[in-house]
Amino acid sequence: MNVVPTRHELRRMLQLCGWPRLTVGRFAVQGADEWQAALPRLTPADRQTLTRRLAWPLAMATNPARFRTWCAGARGRKREQFAQWCGRIAAAVAYYGDPEVLAPLTVGLASLPAPVAENAVKKCMFLATGRSTSGWIGGFLPPWLRPVLLAGHYSDEHVRKIAMHEATHAWVTSTEQEPFALRTTRESTLVWATPAGDQEREAKANEENLVRLLTAAWLSAAAHRP
Ligand SMILES: [Zn+2]
Repeated sequence: MNVVPTRHELRRMLQLCGWPRLTVGRFAVQGADEWQAALPRLTPADRQTLTRRLAWPLAMATNPARFRTWCAGARGRKREQFAQWCGRIAAAVAYYGDPEVLAPLTVGLASLPAPVAENAVKKCMFLATGRSTSGWIGGFLPPWLRPVLLAGHYSDEHVRKIAMHEATHAWVTSTEQEPFALRTTRESTLVWATPAGDQEREAKANEENLVRLLTAAWLSAAAHRP
């Protein structure tokens, strides 16, 4: 899957990362002014390369506290092969649903920067129907995990993107910050569907734009994994 971010998307990513110093071809670019001048000249290949290099800085920029906690915990950990990393996620993730959906969910999570993936594994549960079942009734689910619902009737590739998108929401927000976390699930769902006021609607729209941008960056980075 080849995802090339637009100039506008790349500008926003660089801005989020504080206009970092990076090399483009043989030149180093740094700071808002230099980047604004360089952006129109970048080829799609340059944009792709830069996006790949911004994958981890974007994770740091969008949740510095969580990123630092993850880094402290990961010190001394050995670098894993992708298959090994997928296996660890598949074993740890709280997943309830059609068995076929677990593989694309796992690959989706594994394609995110590790702090983002591990945050989702720790904080969320994933539920799916629509692939081999049309519905199901389960036992009681762990109340401390945020539910993420996946539409299992989509292709594996699409399920993978949904998983990345929702896990990114979990990265940029925390239930502690959301006032409606204290309401019942039914009320929360209604709030998500129809935000109460302009302010809430605008906050949701901003979060959605940020999550789309981050998912695009992380998809692009994942597409070029060596
Ligand atoms: Zn969203």
